[in-house]
Amino acid sequence: MKFPNIGDIATTSVVSIDIKSTFNETINMMLNNEHRNIIVTDNNDFYIMSIIDILNVQEKKVDVNTPLSELNLLKIPVINKEKNILDTVEYLNNSTEHICVINNDGTLYDNVVVVEDLKPVGIFTTKDIMELVKNKTDLDVDIEQHMSSPVDSIHKNASIREALSFIKDRHYKRVVVVDDDGLLSGIITQKELISLTYSKWAILMKEYQDELSEINLKLHNKNIEYENIASTDSLTGLYNRHKFSQLYLSSYTSMIQRHNDMSIIILDIDYFKKVNDVYGHNAGDKTLVQVSHTLLKILRNIDVVCRWGGEEFLIMLPTADLKHAISIAEKLRKAIEDLSIDIVGQVTASFGVSQVREGEDMQDVIDRADKALYLAKDFGRNCVKSEADI
Ligand code: GH3
Ligand code: MG
Ligand code: MG
Repeated sequence: MKFPNIGDIATTSVVSIDIKSTFNETINMMLNNEHRNIIVTDNNDFYIMSIIDILNVQEKKVDVNTPLSELNLLKIPVINKEKNILDTVEYLNNSTEHICVINNDGTLYDNVVVVEDLKPVGIFTTKDIMELVKNKTDLDVDIEQHMSSPVDSIHKNASIREALSFIKDRHYKRVVVVDDDGLLSGIITQKELISLTYSKWAILMKEYQDELSEINLKLHNKNIEYENIASTDSLTGLYNRHKFSQLYLSSYTSMIQRHNDMSIIILDIDYFKKVNDVYGHNAGDKTLVQVSHTLLKILRNIDVVCRWGGEEFLIMLPTADLKHAISIAEKLRKAIEDLSIDIVGQVTASFGVSQVREGEDMQDVIDRADKALYLAKDFGRNCVKSEADI
């Protein structure tokens, strides 16, 4: 799904003025453009001058020819138009409203609805205030003389969509909301309706995105978990046959491409049945784990060890020729012989080694290593034999 960019939804009808301009020039520009706010530019910095600033100036009796740079205007955050609408979510929570009348409860409105017997009879907006300030009108006169009247209203149960088209059709900027008895219920502006539509949507999308990332992460972790289960042996943590076959294929391809050697070792623990019979199955399991750790400790990172069956392990040695593989097998044999396993004590293993030939299947090279292993068993066990001995 493509989310709209900030540039797609931002209001483009903005007026701006340089910070060196005077207060008087600014207020004229705002009135001419029917804007309640004006963007004040200072190179790459942006400020906003709103009706509240105008009233402050009025209150403090600041000279109308004062440049904007001396008015302590509010600096506004900047966001690139290429950014996604989701990036605006953080601004939605602490957005600044530029309004003129502060209610007792601290909520801010940029207009006042004038009521008589609780029924709306007029509306007084920030634009009206600007006009008054501009014309140096006495701010203590009755509001009735300056409010817009009569007011059009919409029922409070109207939908956002209905309110939007009501406002649009009549070219209103705001509409008064009334209840069944025509009593004042609130006021809603076009800007609010639009931002409500967008912000609700953006928040929804953000939640949706968080939820999606969460699901994705869970799926990703589950996949890794399943892949591990599917590719490893649960007792020893070594690769299983399935994974070994996969890895063999890619190593074989790279061996051919790079004109390298590659060998395999198959090893089988000697008289393992006895270990189980004498010390129990648990001790047998621990033996398998300890032997696995020993193999991993001695082998290189590029080597691949797998538990091929019960007490049988298969090792792939990329880049190793037969001679090198035999020497590695000998090292492994010695390390296992030297192990002192809990309860069990010493165990030994027999080894069969073969080198991969170009064009043959994995099974062919394993068969030759297997034959060498049988030879090692026949030879008295705890020794290494290779295809060269067959
Ligand atoms: P050889 O020297 O000829 O290899 O004799 P062996 O006793 O090692 O061979 P055999 O094939 O007769 O017995 C293998 C034993 O390994 C039998 C089986 O119970 C045991 N075994 C296989 N898998 C496991 C396992 O996961 N845990 C345990 N504890 N024992 C296992
Ligand atoms: Mg066996
Ligand atoms: Mg065995």
